[in-house]
Amino acid sequence: DIGGTWYWNRYPGARCDIESMSYSYSFSPELDQEWEWGERYATQPEILRYVHHVADRFDLRKDIVLRTRVTRAVYDGDDHRWQLSTDTGRAVTARFVILATGCMSTPKDPAVPGADSFTGAIHHTARWPRKDVPFAGKRVAVIGTGCSGVQAIPVIAGEAASLTVFQRTPAYVLPARNRPLQATERAALKARYPEFRQAQRCSRGGTVFTPPTRSALEVDEAERTAAYEAAWDEGFLNGLLRTYTDILTDEKANETVAEFVRSKIRSTVNDPATAELLSPHTFPFATKRPCLGTNYYETYNLPHVALVDLRTTPIERITPRGIRTSGGEHDLDVIVFATGFDALTGSQLAIDIVGREGVTLRERWADGPRNHLGLVSAGFPNLFTVLGPLSPSVLTNITVSLEQQVEWITTCIDHLLGNGLTEIDAIPSAETAWGARVAELAARTLYPAVDSWYTGANVPGKPRAFLAYAGGLDRYREECDAVARDGYTGFVLSSSTGGRSLPAPDRCTDPQHRRHG
Ligand code: NAP
Repeated sequence: DIGGTWYWNRYPGARCDIESMSYSYSFSPELDQEWEWGERYATQPEILRYVHHVADRFDLRKDIVLRTRVTRAVYDGDDHRWQLSTDTGRAVTARFVILATGCMSTPKDPAVPGADSFTGAIHHTARWPRKDVPFAGKRVAVIGTGCSGVQAIPVIAGEAASLTVFQRTPAYVLPARNRPLQATERAALKARYPEFRQAQRCSRGGTVFTPPTRSALEVDEAERTAAYEAAWDEGFLNGLLRTYTDILTDEKANETVAEFVRSKIRSTVNDPATAELLSPHTFPFATKRPCLGTNYYETYNLPHVALVDLRTTPIERITPRGIRTSGGEHDLDVIVFATGFDALTGSQLAIDIVGREGVTLRERWADGPRNHLGLVSAGFPNLFTVLGPLSPSVLTNITVSLEQQVEWITTCIDHLLGNGLTEIDAIPSAETAWGARVAELAARTLYPAVDSWYTGANVPGKPRAFLAYAGGLDRYREECDAVARDGYTGFVLSSSTGGRSLPAPDRCTDPQHRRHG
Protein backbone atom coordinates (compact mmCIF):
# COMPACT_ATOMS: atom_id res chain seq x y z
CA ASP A 1 0.00 0.00 0.00
CA ILE A 2 1.02 3.65 -0.13
CA GLY A 3 2.65 5.48 2.78
CA GLY A 4 6.39 4.74 2.52
CA THR A 5 8.02 5.18 5.91
CA TRP A 6 4.60 5.42 7.50
CA TYR A 7 3.49 2.18 5.87
CA TRP A 8 6.49 0.13 7.00
CA ASN A 9 7.30 1.56 10.43
CA ARG A 10 4.16 0.46 12.24
CA TYR A 11 5.89 -0.76 15.37
CA PRO A 12 4.21 -0.09 18.74
CA GLY A 13 4.64 3.55 19.71
CA ALA A 14 5.64 4.74 16.22
CA ARG A 15 4.89 8.40 15.81
CA CYS A 16 6.49 11.48 14.33
CA ASP A 17 8.76 13.59 16.48
CA ILE A 18 8.07 16.79 14.59
CA GLU A 19 4.79 18.50 15.40
CA SER A 20 1.98 17.28 13.17
CA MET A 21 0.87 20.72 12.02
CA SER A 22 4.45 21.30 10.77
CA TYR A 23 5.04 17.79 9.49
CA SER A 24 2.52 17.86 6.66
CA TYR A 25 2.35 18.93 3.03
CA SER A 26 2.16 22.65 2.40
CA PHE A 27 1.25 22.62 -1.30
CA SER A 28 -2.48 22.96 -0.80
CA PRO A 29 -4.02 25.66 1.42
CA GLU A 30 -7.32 23.77 1.19
CA LEU A 31 -5.69 20.59 2.50
CA ASP A 32 -4.15 22.59 5.33
CA GLN A 33 -7.58 23.86 6.31
CA GLU A 34 -9.54 20.64 6.08
CA TRP A 35 -7.28 18.11 7.81
CA GLU A 36 -7.65 17.93 11.60
CA TRP A 37 -4.57 16.58 13.41
CA GLY A 38 -5.51 14.87 16.67
CA GLU A 39 -2.26 15.03 18.62
CA ARG A 40 0.71 17.33 18.94
CA TYR A 41 2.90 14.47 17.64
CA ALA A 42 0.92 12.31 15.24
CA THR A 43 0.92 8.53 15.55
CA GLN A 44 1.89 6.30 12.62
CA PRO A 45 -1.75 5.29 11.96
CA GLU A 46 -2.83 8.94 11.91
CA ILE A 47 -0.08 9.92 9.45
CA LEU A 48 -0.96 6.94 7.27
CA ARG A 49 -4.62 8.07 7.26
CA TYR A 50 -3.44 11.52 6.19
CA VAL A 51 -1.34 10.05 3.35
CA HIS A 52 -4.38 8.07 2.16
CA HIS A 53 -6.52 11.20 2.35
CA VAL A 54 -3.99 13.11 0.24
CA ALA A 55 -3.85 10.32 -2.35
CA ASP A 56 -7.64 10.26 -2.62
CA ARG A 57 -8.18 14.01 -2.51
CA PHE A 58 -5.72 14.68 -5.32
CA ASP A 59 -6.67 11.54 -7.28
CA LEU A 60 -3.15 10.16 -7.18
CA ARG A 61 -3.90 6.47 -7.02
CA LYS A 62 -4.39 6.16 -10.75
CA ASP A 63 -0.69 6.96 -11.17
CA ILE A 64 0.60 4.58 -8.49
CA VAL A 65 1.71 0.99 -9.12
CA LEU A 66 1.96 -1.10 -5.96
CA ARG A 67 3.60 -4.47 -5.20
CA THR A 68 6.35 -3.70 -7.68
CA ARG A 69 10.03 -3.33 -6.90
CA VAL A 70 12.28 -1.56 -9.39
CA THR A 71 15.29 -3.85 -9.66
CA ARG A 72 17.33 -2.28 -12.45
CA ALA A 73 17.53 1.01 -14.34
CA VAL A 74 19.67 1.27 -17.48
CA TYR A 75 20.27 4.49 -19.40
CA ASP A 76 20.00 4.22 -23.15
CA GLY A 77 22.35 6.96 -24.38
CA ASP A 78 21.08 6.74 -27.96
CA ASP A 79 17.44 7.12 -27.09
CA HIS A 80 18.11 9.34 -24.02
CA ARG A 81 15.75 7.27 -21.92
CA TRP A 82 15.86 5.05 -18.88
CA GLN A 83 14.77 1.42 -19.16
CA LEU A 84 13.42 0.23 -15.83
CA SER A 85 13.02 -3.44 -14.92
CA THR A 86 10.85 -4.64 -12.06
CA ASP A 87 10.39 -7.80 -10.04
CA THR A 88 6.97 -8.36 -11.58
CA GLY A 89 8.41 -8.45 -15.09
CA ARG A 90 6.79 -5.15 -16.00
CA ALA A 91 9.20 -2.90 -17.91
CA VAL A 92 8.95 0.87 -18.11
CA THR A 93 10.69 3.36 -20.37
CA ALA A 94 11.02 6.91 -19.11
CA ARG A 95 12.88 10.05 -20.05
CA PHE A 96 13.02 11.26 -16.45
CA VAL A 97 13.34 9.15 -13.31
CA ILE A 98 12.96 10.52 -9.80
CA LEU A 99 14.31 8.34 -7.02
CA ALA A 100 11.95 9.04 -4.12
CA THR A 101 13.12 5.80 -2.56
CA GLY A 102 13.52 7.16 0.94
CA CYS A 103 16.45 8.18 3.10
CA MET A 104 15.60 5.66 5.78
CA SER A 105 14.02 2.72 3.99
CA THR A 106 16.64 -0.01 3.74
CA PRO A 107 16.48 -1.74 7.14
CA LYS A 108 19.65 -3.00 8.75
CA ASP A 109 19.68 -6.26 10.68
CA PRO A 110 22.08 -6.63 13.60
CA ALA A 111 24.05 -9.31 11.73
CA VAL A 112 24.06 -11.59 14.75
CA PRO A 113 24.54 -15.29 13.93
CA GLY A 114 21.76 -17.76 14.66
CA ALA A 115 18.67 -15.64 13.93
CA ASP A 116 17.27 -18.42 11.73
CA SER A 117 17.43 -20.88 14.61
CA PHE A 118 15.22 -18.85 16.97
CA THR A 119 11.94 -20.66 17.67
CA GLY A 120 10.06 -17.49 18.66
CA ALA A 121 9.22 -14.48 16.49
CA ILE A 122 11.67 -11.83 15.20
CA HIS A 123 10.44 -8.48 13.88
CA HIS A 124 12.35 -5.43 12.60
CA THR A 125 10.74 -2.11 13.55
CA ALA A 126 10.92 -1.01 9.90
CA ARG A 127 9.28 -4.17 8.52
CA TRP A 128 6.58 -4.53 11.15
CA PRO A 129 3.72 -6.94 10.28
CA ARG A 130 0.33 -5.48 9.38
CA LYS A 131 -1.37 -7.83 11.79
CA ASP A 132 -1.16 -7.26 15.54
CA VAL A 133 1.94 -8.63 17.22
CA PRO A 134 0.83 -9.91 20.64
CA PHE A 135 3.16 -9.24 23.56
CA ALA A 136 0.88 -10.13 26.49
CA GLY A 137 2.44 -12.85 28.61
CA LYS A 138 5.58 -12.90 26.43
CA ARG A 139 9.25 -12.49 27.20
CA VAL A 140 10.39 -9.83 24.79
CA ALA A 141 13.80 -8.41 23.79
CA VAL A 142 14.52 -5.16 21.98
CA ILE A 143 17.95 -4.77 20.36
CA GLY A 144 18.75 -1.12 19.67
CA THR A 145 18.07 2.16 21.45
CA GLY A 146 17.83 4.72 18.63
CA CYS A 147 14.64 6.70 17.94
CA SER A 148 12.67 3.58 16.94
CA GLY A 149 13.68 1.55 20.01
CA VAL A 150 13.06 4.54 22.28
CA GLN A 151 9.48 4.82 21.01
CA ALA A 152 8.77 1.08 21.09
CA ILE A 153 10.32 0.18 24.45
CA PRO A 154 7.78 1.87 26.81
CA VAL A 155 4.80 0.62 24.80
CA ILE A 156 6.05 -2.98 24.63
CA ALA A 157 6.88 -2.84 28.35
CA GLY A 158 3.26 -1.92 29.00
CA GLU A 159 2.11 -5.24 27.58
CA ALA A 160 4.88 -7.82 27.86
CA ALA A 161 5.49 -10.19 30.77
CA SER A 162 9.13 -9.15 30.68
CA LEU A 163 11.22 -6.85 28.52
CA THR A 164 14.99 -6.99 28.14
CA VAL A 165 16.64 -4.10 26.30
CA PHE A 166 19.98 -4.88 24.65
CA GLN A 167 21.83 -1.59 24.43
CA ARG A 168 25.12 -0.91 22.67
CA THR A 169 25.13 2.90 22.81
CA PRO A 170 22.72 4.91 24.94
CA ALA A 171 20.86 7.78 23.28
CA TYR A 172 20.02 11.27 24.51
CA VAL A 173 16.25 11.02 24.95
CA LEU A 174 14.17 14.15 25.49
CA PRO A 175 10.58 14.12 26.71
CA ALA A 176 8.02 14.59 23.91
CA ARG A 177 5.30 16.16 26.09
CA ASN A 178 2.81 14.80 23.61
CA ARG A 179 -0.86 15.67 24.16
CA PRO A 180 -4.12 15.95 22.25
CA LEU A 181 -4.37 19.15 20.21
CA GLN A 182 -7.16 21.48 21.32
CA ALA A 183 -9.61 22.69 18.68
CA THR A 184 -8.71 26.27 19.59
CA GLU A 185 -4.97 25.83 18.98
CA ARG A 186 -5.60 24.05 15.68
CA ALA A 187 -7.89 26.90 14.61
CA ALA A 188 -5.34 29.52 15.70
CA LEU A 189 -2.58 27.98 13.58
CA LYS A 190 -4.92 27.43 10.64
CA ALA A 191 -5.82 31.12 10.72
CA ARG A 192 -2.17 31.95 10.00
CA TYR A 193 -1.20 28.83 8.05
CA PRO A 194 -0.10 30.71 4.88
CA GLU A 195 2.40 32.82 6.86
CA PHE A 196 3.45 29.78 8.88
CA ARG A 197 4.11 27.72 5.73
CA GLN A 198 6.12 30.59 4.25
CA ALA A 199 8.16 30.85 7.46
CA GLN A 200 8.82 27.10 7.30
CA ARG A 201 10.04 27.44 3.71
CA CYS A 202 12.45 30.20 4.69
CA SER A 203 13.68 28.45 7.83
CA ARG A 204 16.93 26.66 8.49
CA GLY A 205 15.41 23.27 9.24
CA GLY A 206 11.79 23.41 8.12
CA THR A 207 10.45 24.28 11.55
CA VAL A 208 9.72 27.75 12.87
CA PHE A 209 11.57 29.06 15.92
CA THR A 210 13.45 32.08 17.15
CA PRO A 211 17.16 31.44 16.56
CA PRO A 212 19.53 31.77 19.52
CA THR A 213 21.96 34.65 19.63
CA ARG A 214 24.39 33.77 22.41
CA SER A 215 27.01 31.14 23.16
CA ALA A 216 26.27 28.65 25.94
CA LEU A 217 29.62 29.65 27.43
CA GLU A 218 28.70 33.34 27.59
CA VAL A 219 26.17 32.88 30.38
CA ASP A 220 26.51 31.57 33.92
CA GLU A 221 25.46 28.09 34.95
CA ALA A 222 22.22 29.17 36.60
CA GLU A 223 21.04 30.99 33.49
CA ARG A 224 22.08 28.11 31.27
CA THR A 225 20.30 25.54 33.42
CA ALA A 226 17.15 27.65 33.43
CA ALA A 227 17.25 27.76 29.63
CA TYR A 228 17.76 24.00 29.43
CA GLU A 229 14.93 23.37 31.91
CA ALA A 230 12.59 25.52 29.81
CA ALA A 231 13.54 23.62 26.64
CA TRP A 232 13.16 20.28 28.45
CA ASP A 233 9.66 21.28 29.55
CA GLU A 234 8.61 22.39 26.06
CA GLY A 235 9.26 18.99 24.50
CA PHE A 236 10.73 19.82 21.09
CA LEU A 237 13.21 17.52 19.33
CA ASN A 238 15.59 20.41 18.75
CA GLY A 239 14.56 22.50 21.76
CA LEU A 240 17.84 22.03 23.63
CA LEU A 241 19.84 22.50 20.45
CA ARG A 242 18.24 25.90 19.93
CA THR A 243 19.06 27.34 23.31
CA TYR A 244 22.51 28.60 22.29
CA THR A 245 24.39 29.15 19.04
CA ASP A 246 27.28 26.77 19.63
CA ILE A 247 25.81 23.50 20.91
CA LEU A 248 26.72 21.74 17.67
CA THR A 249 29.99 23.53 17.06
CA ASP A 250 31.79 23.73 20.39
CA GLU A 251 32.57 20.68 22.50
CA LYS A 252 32.53 22.59 25.78
CA ALA A 253 29.18 24.20 25.02
CA ASN A 254 27.84 20.81 23.96
CA GLU A 255 29.01 19.15 27.15
CA THR A 256 26.86 21.54 29.21
CA VAL A 257 23.73 20.16 27.49
CA ALA A 258 24.98 16.57 27.55
CA GLU A 259 25.53 16.80 31.31
CA PHE A 260 22.10 18.40 31.77
CA VAL A 261 20.46 15.40 30.05
CA ARG A 262 22.54 13.00 32.16
CA SER A 263 21.34 14.78 35.29
CA LYS A 264 17.75 14.22 34.15
CA ILE A 265 18.48 10.52 33.63
CA ARG A 266 19.99 10.25 37.12
CA SER A 267 16.98 11.95 38.69
CA THR A 268 14.49 9.75 36.81
CA VAL A 269 16.00 6.26 36.97
CA ASN A 270 15.92 4.78 40.48
CA ASP A 271 18.86 2.40 40.16
CA PRO A 272 22.11 4.43 39.89
CA ALA A 273 23.91 1.68 37.94
CA THR A 274 21.11 1.53 35.36
CA ALA A 275 21.03 5.34 35.17
CA GLU A 276 24.75 5.37 34.44
CA LEU A 277 24.38 2.74 31.70
CA LEU A 278 21.62 4.82 30.11
CA SER A 279 23.78 7.97 30.18
CA PRO A 280 25.56 8.79 26.91
CA HIS A 281 29.26 9.62 27.31
CA THR A 282 30.81 8.55 24.02
CA PHE A 283 29.48 11.22 21.65
CA PRO A 284 28.38 14.86 21.93
CA PHE A 285 24.70 15.72 22.28
CA ALA A 286 22.78 15.72 18.95
CA THR A 287 25.71 14.49 16.85
CA LYS A 288 23.61 11.35 16.54
CA ARG A 289 19.99 12.28 16.03
CA PRO A 290 18.41 12.95 19.44
CA CYS A 291 15.24 11.03 20.30
CA LEU A 292 11.89 12.18 21.64
CA GLY A 293 10.39 9.73 24.08
CA THR A 294 7.40 9.24 26.30
CA ASN A 295 8.17 7.57 29.65
CA TYR A 296 11.41 6.22 28.19
CA TYR A 297 13.67 6.51 31.23
CA GLU A 298 10.75 5.82 33.62
CA THR A 299 10.29 2.43 31.93
CA TYR A 300 13.58 1.21 33.43
CA ASN A 301 12.06 1.59 36.92
CA LEU A 302 9.54 -1.18 36.17
CA PRO A 303 10.36 -4.49 37.86
CA HIS A 304 9.91 -6.56 34.69
CA VAL A 305 12.23 -4.39 32.55
CA ALA A 306 15.96 -5.13 32.40
CA LEU A 307 18.85 -3.45 30.60
CA VAL A 308 21.75 -5.44 29.15
CA ASP A 309 24.91 -3.49 28.34
CA LEU A 310 26.34 -4.91 25.14
CA ARG A 311 29.61 -3.01 25.60
CA THR A 312 30.53 -5.23 28.54
CA THR A 313 28.55 -8.33 27.58
CA PRO A 314 28.27 -8.48 23.77
CA ILE A 315 25.79 -10.71 21.97
CA GLU A 316 27.44 -13.97 20.90
CA ARG A 317 24.52 -15.43 19.02
CA ILE A 318 20.79 -15.90 18.79
CA THR A 319 19.90 -19.41 19.89
CA PRO A 320 16.68 -21.43 19.50
CA ARG A 321 15.66 -20.20 23.00
CA GLY A 322 16.74 -16.59 22.95
CA ILE A 323 19.86 -14.40 22.96
CA ARG A 324 23.21 -15.50 24.32
CA THR A 325 25.63 -12.79 25.43
CA SER A 326 29.04 -13.25 27.00
CA GLY A 327 27.19 -12.85 30.31
CA GLY A 328 24.70 -15.68 29.81
CA GLU A 329 21.54 -16.75 27.95
CA HIS A 330 18.22 -14.83 27.95
CA ASP A 331 15.14 -16.96 27.24
CA LEU A 332 12.72 -15.14 24.96
CA ASP A 333 9.49 -15.43 22.96
CA VAL A 334 9.84 -12.33 20.75
CA ILE A 335 12.92 -10.40 19.56
CA VAL A 336 12.57 -6.90 18.12
CA PHE A 337 15.38 -5.54 15.98
CA ALA A 338 15.36 -1.75 16.31
CA THR A 339 18.72 -1.65 14.59
CA GLY A 340 18.16 1.08 12.05
CA PHE A 341 18.86 1.54 8.36
CA ASP A 342 21.46 1.77 5.63
CA ALA A 343 20.58 5.45 5.54
CA LEU A 344 20.57 7.89 2.64
CA THR A 345 22.36 5.77 0.03
CA GLY A 346 20.99 2.28 0.77
CA SER A 347 17.72 2.56 -1.12
CA GLN A 348 19.38 3.92 -4.26
CA LEU A 349 22.22 1.42 -4.33
CA ALA A 350 19.70 -1.40 -3.81
CA ILE A 351 18.64 -0.77 -7.42
CA ASP A 352 21.10 -1.85 -10.09
CA ILE A 353 21.49 1.54 -11.78
CA VAL A 354 23.57 1.63 -14.95
CA GLY A 355 24.34 5.04 -16.40
CA ARG A 356 26.23 6.30 -19.43
CA GLU A 357 28.76 3.91 -20.96
CA GLY A 358 27.73 1.07 -18.69
CA VAL A 359 29.04 2.65 -15.48
CA THR A 360 26.97 1.64 -12.45
CA LEU A 361 25.97 3.91 -9.59
CA ARG A 362 27.55 1.39 -7.23
CA GLU A 363 30.89 1.85 -9.03
CA ARG A 364 30.49 5.61 -9.20
CA TRP A 365 29.74 5.81 -5.47
CA ALA A 366 32.32 3.22 -4.39
CA ASP A 367 34.13 5.85 -2.31
CA GLY A 368 30.95 7.61 -1.19
CA PRO A 369 28.07 9.39 -2.92
CA ARG A 370 28.83 12.03 -5.54
CA ASN A 371 26.32 14.43 -7.05
CA HIS A 372 25.62 18.08 -7.75
CA LEU A 373 23.26 19.79 -5.27
CA GLY A 374 22.30 16.38 -3.88
CA LEU A 375 20.11 16.02 -6.97
CA VAL A 376 21.91 14.51 -10.00
CA SER A 377 25.05 12.35 -10.34
CA ALA A 378 27.37 12.79 -13.33
CA GLY A 379 26.87 10.05 -15.88
CA PHE A 380 23.28 9.42 -14.76
CA PRO A 381 21.34 11.99 -16.80
CA ASN A 382 17.75 12.84 -15.96
CA LEU A 383 17.94 10.72 -12.80
CA PHE A 384 16.94 12.96 -9.89
CA THR A 385 17.01 12.15 -6.20
CA VAL A 386 14.63 13.38 -3.53
CA LEU A 387 16.00 13.45 0.05
CA GLY A 388 19.15 11.74 -1.13
CA PRO A 389 22.72 12.11 0.11
CA LEU A 390 24.46 15.52 0.19
CA SER A 391 21.20 17.41 0.58
CA PRO A 392 19.68 18.75 3.85
CA SER A 393 17.19 15.84 4.03
CA VAL A 394 17.60 14.15 7.44
CA LEU A 395 18.79 17.32 9.19
CA THR A 396 15.45 18.99 8.47
CA ASN A 397 11.71 18.55 8.66
CA ILE A 398 11.64 16.41 5.55
CA THR A 399 8.15 17.43 4.47
CA VAL A 400 9.57 20.90 3.77
CA SER A 401 12.79 19.60 2.19
CA LEU A 402 11.06 17.22 -0.13
CA GLU A 403 8.69 19.91 -1.42
CA GLN A 404 11.68 22.17 -2.12
CA GLN A 405 13.43 19.44 -4.12
CA VAL A 406 10.28 18.37 -5.95
CA GLU A 407 9.63 22.01 -6.93
CA TRP A 408 13.21 22.40 -8.18
CA ILE A 409 13.07 19.16 -10.18
CA THR A 410 9.65 20.02 -11.65
CA THR A 411 10.85 23.47 -12.72
CA CYS A 412 13.96 21.90 -14.23
CA ILE A 413 11.93 19.38 -16.25
CA ASP A 414 9.58 22.17 -17.38
CA HIS A 415 12.63 24.11 -18.51
CA LEU A 416 14.05 21.17 -20.44
CA LEU A 417 10.77 20.34 -22.14
CA GLY A 418 9.96 23.98 -22.85
CA ASN A 419 13.29 24.48 -24.60
CA GLY A 420 13.48 21.33 -26.67
CA LEU A 421 16.16 19.86 -24.42
CA THR A 422 16.30 16.16 -23.65
CA GLU A 423 18.97 15.79 -21.00
CA ILE A 424 20.41 17.27 -17.85
CA ASP A 425 23.59 15.80 -16.43
CA ALA A 426 25.94 16.94 -13.69
CA ILE A 427 29.47 18.08 -14.57
CA PRO A 428 32.08 16.03 -12.66
CA SER A 429 33.99 19.12 -11.48
CA ALA A 430 30.74 20.59 -10.10
CA GLU A 431 30.16 17.36 -8.21
CA THR A 432 33.64 17.56 -6.73
CA ALA A 433 33.00 21.15 -5.67
CA TRP A 434 29.62 20.23 -4.17
CA GLY A 435 31.13 17.31 -2.23
CA ALA A 436 33.82 19.66 -0.89
CA ARG A 437 31.20 22.22 0.08
CA VAL A 438 29.10 19.64 1.96
CA ALA A 439 32.23 18.38 3.73
CA GLU A 440 33.32 21.92 4.60
CA LEU A 441 29.91 22.77 6.09
CA ALA A 442 29.98 19.58 8.13
CA ALA A 443 33.52 20.31 9.30
CA ARG A 444 32.24 23.44 11.06
CA THR A 445 30.20 21.15 13.33
CA LEU A 446 30.85 18.28 15.71
CA TYR A 447 29.02 15.80 13.41
CA PRO A 448 31.79 14.31 11.24
CA ALA A 449 33.92 12.88 14.06
CA VAL A 450 31.10 10.73 15.41
CA ASP A 451 30.24 7.18 14.31
CA SER A 452 26.59 7.42 13.31
CA TRP A 453 24.29 6.70 10.42
CA TYR A 454 24.90 10.33 9.39
CA THR A 455 28.49 9.30 8.60
CA GLY A 456 27.66 5.82 7.31
CA ALA A 457 29.48 4.25 10.25
CA ASN A 458 26.56 2.02 11.25
CA VAL A 459 26.94 -0.14 8.12
CA PRO A 460 30.14 -2.22 7.98
CA GLY A 461 32.19 -1.40 4.89
CA LYS A 462 30.23 1.73 3.97
CA PRO A 463 32.58 4.56 2.94
CA ARG A 464 32.77 7.17 5.63
CA ALA A 465 31.44 10.62 4.76
CA PHE A 466 29.05 13.03 6.38
CA LEU A 467 26.04 12.41 4.17
CA ALA A 468 23.91 15.52 4.64
CA TYR A 469 24.21 19.21 3.77
CA ALA A 470 24.58 20.97 7.12
CA GLY A 471 24.26 24.55 5.87
CA GLY A 472 20.52 24.80 6.46
CA LEU A 473 17.53 24.38 4.19
CA ASP A 474 17.24 28.15 3.66
CA ARG A 475 20.78 28.41 2.32
CA TYR A 476 20.41 25.20 0.30
CA ARG A 477 17.25 26.54 -1.31
CA GLU A 478 19.11 29.73 -2.28
CA GLU A 479 21.97 27.73 -3.77
CA CYS A 480 19.62 25.52 -5.80
CA ASP A 481 17.61 28.53 -7.01
CA ALA A 482 20.78 30.42 -7.98
CA VAL A 483 21.99 27.45 -10.03
CA ALA A 484 18.69 27.33 -11.95
CA ARG A 485 18.53 31.10 -12.34
CA ASP A 486 22.06 31.22 -13.76
CA GLY A 487 21.24 28.66 -16.45
CA TYR A 488 21.80 25.47 -14.45
CA THR A 489 25.45 26.04 -13.67
CA GLY A 490 27.32 22.84 -12.91
CA PHE A 491 25.02 20.90 -15.21
CA VAL A 492 25.12 20.19 -18.93
CA LEU A 493 21.77 20.56 -20.66
CA SER A 494 21.55 19.13 -24.14
CA SER A 495 19.13 18.10 -26.84
CA SER A 496 19.14 14.84 -28.77
CA THR A 497 20.03 16.81 -31.89
CA GLY A 498 23.17 18.11 -30.26
CA GLY A 499 21.87 21.48 -29.03
CA ARG A 500 23.42 22.76 -25.82
CA SER A 501 22.35 24.51 -22.70
CA LEU A 502 20.00 27.47 -23.03
CA PRO A 503 19.70 30.15 -20.39
CA ALA A 504 16.94 29.46 -17.91
CA PRO A 505 13.87 31.66 -18.16
CA ASP A 506 13.19 34.17 -15.42
CA ARG A 507 11.46 32.34 -12.67
CA CYS A 508 9.91 33.20 -9.39
CA THR A 509 11.42 31.30 -6.52
CA ASP A 510 8.16 31.41 -4.66
CA PRO A 511 6.63 27.97 -5.15
CA GLN A 512 3.14 29.44 -4.63
CA HIS A 513 3.62 31.41 -7.82
CA ARG A 514 4.58 28.36 -9.84
CA ARG A 515 1.73 26.33 -8.41
CA HIS A 516 -0.78 28.80 -9.68
CA GLY A 517 0.82 28.69 -13.07
P1 NAP B 1 19.26 4.02 14.66
O1 NAP B 1 19.13 5.39 15.13
O2 NAP B 1 20.31 3.70 13.67
O3 NAP B 1 19.43 3.12 15.95
C1 NAP B 1 19.79 1.77 15.84
C2 NAP B 1 20.08 1.24 17.21
O4 NAP B 1 20.40 -0.14 17.08
C3 NAP B 1 21.29 1.91 17.86
O5 NAP B 1 21.08 1.95 19.24
C4 NAP B 1 22.42 0.94 17.51
O6 NAP B 1 23.50 0.99 18.40
C5 NAP B 1 21.70 -0.37 17.63
N1 NAP B 1 22.32 -1.44 16.88
C6 NAP B 1 22.52 -1.49 15.54
N2 NAP B 1 23.11 -2.65 15.21
C7 NAP B 1 23.30 -3.34 16.36
C8 NAP B 1 23.87 -4.59 16.68
N3 NAP B 1 24.39 -5.40 15.74
N4 NAP B 1 23.89 -4.98 17.97
C9 NAP B 1 23.37 -4.19 18.93
N5 NAP B 1 22.82 -2.98 18.70
C10 NAP B 1 22.79 -2.57 17.43
O7 NAP B 1 17.88 3.47 14.02
P2 NAP B 1 16.37 3.90 14.38
O8 NAP B 1 16.17 3.91 15.84
O9 NAP B 1 15.49 3.05 13.54
O10 NAP B 1 16.30 5.38 13.89
C11 NAP B 1 16.82 5.76 12.61
C12 NAP B 1 16.31 7.12 12.26
O11 NAP B 1 14.98 7.02 11.80
C13 NAP B 1 16.25 8.11 13.39
O12 NAP B 1 17.47 8.64 13.77
C14 NAP B 1 15.29 9.11 12.82
O13 NAP B 1 15.91 9.93 11.88
C15 NAP B 1 14.30 8.19 12.12
N6 NAP B 1 13.19 7.93 13.05
C16 NAP B 1 12.34 8.95 13.23
C17 NAP B 1 11.29 8.79 14.08
C18 NAP B 1 10.35 9.92 14.26
O14 NAP B 1 9.77 10.05 15.26
N7 NAP B 1 10.16 10.79 13.28
C19 NAP B 1 11.11 7.62 14.77
C20 NAP B 1 12.00 6.59 14.55
C21 NAP B 1 13.05 6.75 13.68
P3 NAP B 1 24.79 1.89 18.06
O15 NAP B 1 24.36 3.30 18.30
O16 NAP B 1 25.83 1.41 19.00
O17 NAP B 1 25.14 1.64 16.63
